[in-house]
Amino acid sequence: MSQNTNEQTALVIGGSHAAAQLVVSLRQEGWGGKILVISDAAQHPYHRPPLSKAYLSGEKSADDLLIRSPAAYAKLGVEFRFNATATAIDRNAHTVRLDDGEVLRYDRLALCTGARVRKLPIAGAELAGVHYLRDLRDAEAIKRDLRPGTRAAIIGGGYIGLETAALLRKVGAEVCVLETMERVLQRVTAAEVSRFYTRIHREEGVRIETGVQAVEIVGDDGQRATAVRCDNGQQVAADLVIIGIGVVPNTELAAAAGLGVDNGIRVDEYAQTDDPQIVAAGDCTNHPNALYGCNLRLESVPNATEQAKSAAAAMCGKRKAYRALPWFWSDQYDLKLQIAGLNQGYDAVAVRGDIEGSRSFAAFYLQEGKVIAADCVNRPMEFSLAKMLLSGDKQIPIERLTDEGVTVKEMVAELRG
Ligand SMILES: Cc1cc2nc3c(=O)[nH]c(=O)nc-3n(C[C@H](O)[C@H](O)[C@H](O)COP(=O)(O)OP(=O)(O)OC[C@H]3O[C@@H](n4cnc5c(N)ncnc54)[C@H](O)[C@@H]3O)c2cc1C
Repeated sequence: MSQNTNEQTALVIGGSHAAAQLVVSLRQEGWGGKILVISDAAQHPYHRPPLSKAYLSGEKSADDLLIRSPAAYAKLGVEFRFNATATAIDRNAHTVRLDDGEVLRYDRLALCTGARVRKLPIAGAELAGVHYLRDLRDAEAIKRDLRPGTRAAIIGGGYIGLETAALLRKVGAEVCVLETMERVLQRVTAAEVSRFYTRIHREEGVRIETGVQAVEIVGDDGQRATAVRCDNGQQVAADLVIIGIGVVPNTELAAAAGLGVDNGIRVDEYAQTDDPQIVAAGDCTNHPNALYGCNLRLESVPNATEQAKSAAAAMCGKRKAYRALPWFWSDQYDLKLQIAGLNQGYDAVAVRGDIEGSRSFAAFYLQEGKVIAADCVNRPMEFSLAKMLLSGDKQIPIERLTDEGVTVKEMVAELRG
């Protein structure tokens, strides 16, 4: 890609975490032309993680969620087209068509289209009181349905489901989590960590049912949800049902334009698609990860933000590889979980701390004796240590990692020494 001039236009499709970073990085990388964001949202990019946390509890308002103030974008000369959906890309003409029929020309195009909730195709899923949770509108609708004594059923025991369960307990709801697999968080954590979260949620008064499938949401005459019926015959009374069964990447626009798509828009380590004029970043991409030697599609804010920096550089004709270590977080009750790396392919787990009885521990995932990832609950020091282990080539023997008599400080010094 060649350098841009002031007459050129950078179009960004999608207006969330990836886009918010990309437009700032574009200016930092020297983009002097127009920047226009096409967003189907009604407002400037906002933080999504608080939707299942402080926003739902009322501790934060919609304004508190904004990633940047409207004035900050104006200062950068970044324009937004809200409530607008891009419906087609013409790669030959370098144009994007919007849902109102308008056609916009681009010199560089960024796809930050993210992901949407996976729908549950069961009877009753359209009843009043049944919700998904992906955007501000969803969170507002849930809030409207929350009343004292709400009985909530959460379908899906992943992070979103469990965070929402924690939050609903905090506001006094009766909560039951229904999970199809044998344990909560089965797709993403070790059995020890699933057991930990099950224990904590039960201590907090959440009912957790695993190995059950929701097959119908039952409603009353007014078409409001009253219960969830499961495949084992049990019926869970619920006037609020939240479905959190994962997301699917928004790749249709890219696929229709002939770009490579495979569980995400295929990009290289510079966030570049098959088309030199088009980059992509965030939840919508499938990208190579040098650290793990494989292709990944990640669903996290740090991924969206870091990849957007590479995408912006590529739009300005520079090459900045995206090689950041994957990391995630999840907040439930007083538990701050920080996850470093990816545990795919682990063959053992070593735990530091009392995972069975306390509210703080670090679980290190090992592959042939080497740490490949860590789940750290209320253990910020161990999280830093894990990141050091994953980024460097030195290891700490497992006996020392799990020995609370050896301080994290000592181990950090060992790695630095
Ligand atoms: C409730 C909740 C809690 C979360 N908690 C955490 C957490 O604790 N930690 C963490 O790291 N991550 C968390 N996440 C995940 C995180 O929010 C996502 O990884 C992040 O939002 C990805 O950003 P993105 O910009 O790639 O995509 P998205 O946020 O999905 O945004 C893409 C936007 O583009 C829009 N769009 C798509 N196609 C078009 C089109 N054709 N035209 C116009 N607009 C379009 C979409 O509708 C959407 O608004 C959470 C997510 C949710 C929903």
